[in-house]
Amino acid sequence: MKKKNNEPAPGAVPGLFGDIVPPAPKADGLLAFSYSKMSLYEECPLKYKFKYIDKIKEEPKFYFAFGSAIHAALEFMYAVKAPPFPTVEEVCEEFKREWGLKSYLEKGYRTQQKSDDDYLKGVAMLKAYYEHNRARLAPPFLVEYSTDVEVDGLKVRIIADKIEYKGGGLVELIDYKTGKDVKRQPSQLYMYQKIAEIDPRLKEKIAETYGHKVADVRVSGMLYYHVPTNKEYFFDRADDKEIGGFWERVLGVADAIRGLKFDPTPSERGCAWCDYKSLCPHFFGNNPPPAEHKLTSAENIEALVDRYGRLQERMDELQAQLAEVGESIGRASRDGGEFAGSQYTARVKKGSKWEFKDREAVINILNQFELYHKALTLTLTGITNVLESDALPEEARKKLLEQAVKKTAFDIKIVKKAGLI
Ligand code: SF4
Repeated sequence: MKKKNNEPAPGAVPGLFGDIVPPAPKADGLLAFSYSKMSLYEECPLKYKFKYIDKIKEEPKFYFAFGSAIHAALEFMYAVKAPPFPTVEEVCEEFKREWGLKSYLEKGYRTQQKSDDDYLKGVAMLKAYYEHNRARLAPPFLVEYSTDVEVDGLKVRIIADKIEYKGGGLVELIDYKTGKDVKRQPSQLYMYQKIAEIDPRLKEKIAETYGHKVADVRVSGMLYYHVPTNKEYFFDRADDKEIGGFWERVLGVADAIRGLKFDPTPSERGCAWCDYKSLCPHFFGNNPPPAEHKLTSAENIEALVDRYGRLQERMDELQAQLAEVGESIGRASRDGGEFAGSQYTARVKKGSKWEFKDREAVINILNQFELYHKALTLTLTGITNVLESDALPEEARKKLLEQAVKKTAFDIKIVKKAGLI
């Protein structure tokens, strides 16, 4: 899809470095899809775009790091074809190994202490899990089973924590939950049921493991196992009507993604947890600042830190607007000089600035050198600061320079006219 003159390409949406055009279709022409992608799109299409089209990484979240280390330890525990199972000490050792792969900041904790506290919580949780399940330990049919199934122009990925085979083609899917509470998530159940039942590999696995040649696989239900409390919540299989309605919804979301429909759907809760606020033209543009902005200095430091961050982001947004107006003044001034408005006078000096050719390539470089967090809070001017920073690794500078073009720029100094308040 090409731009003509300065017109945006059909369906293009604004991005960091210009309009977003559709990504090149994959060789198989299928849209990669999953339950979490669908959830994110339904939460906010623009957030989906930032994450999956622009490929801008989100800040690490400590609760994901915690859940993933617990999952890794349980996977290690169940990855045996026959007893004996690893001891509880070995399971905790695996948790420790996984925990140590990243620093507390990389895991998303604010302090080392909070990370250490969660480590101890995880060890206690695994010991309690082991004791609770010791008497019924048995090798499961499948652990961390990941599959991609092609259906209706989609390549849908599901990852099941554990699958038990009940005989006669019946399987039960088990999902470990490590958060505060367990809510039934019908969409997840529907997605897993639909995909598991048409997955040809699952039939093959049943034949390989149990020697049963089954005509069909049928999901008997889904078990949510809440690890912090050792409570189990079983949900029956969905009926055909529920699955049919759900699948219409899936195809609707897929069509919207293919049609590049990425309008933001702001919400107080969704935006509060969104890492892309500084890139989102709608966050501070058309919407009143979130209620938290009314907090006073008497309130806790965490709220003040968040408020400070949001003000900083707002400032970045205003700086982007300043840069845009400044460019227009520069073009109008030709070689610079002094120009008067009704309230201000501008002294314009001609100079140079960097611009970047390929948005995707720059984001990839920032991601590769773990500079994406700077890109999240910085505008184009900020990316230039990253490029010109003494602290930038030479390899990153070399790659960024390959994407950069030096262009004419104007330095503008504004002075308020005498007598005006
Ligand atoms: S800030 Fe809100 S509207 Fe903007 S992308 Fe994030 S969730 Fe969507």
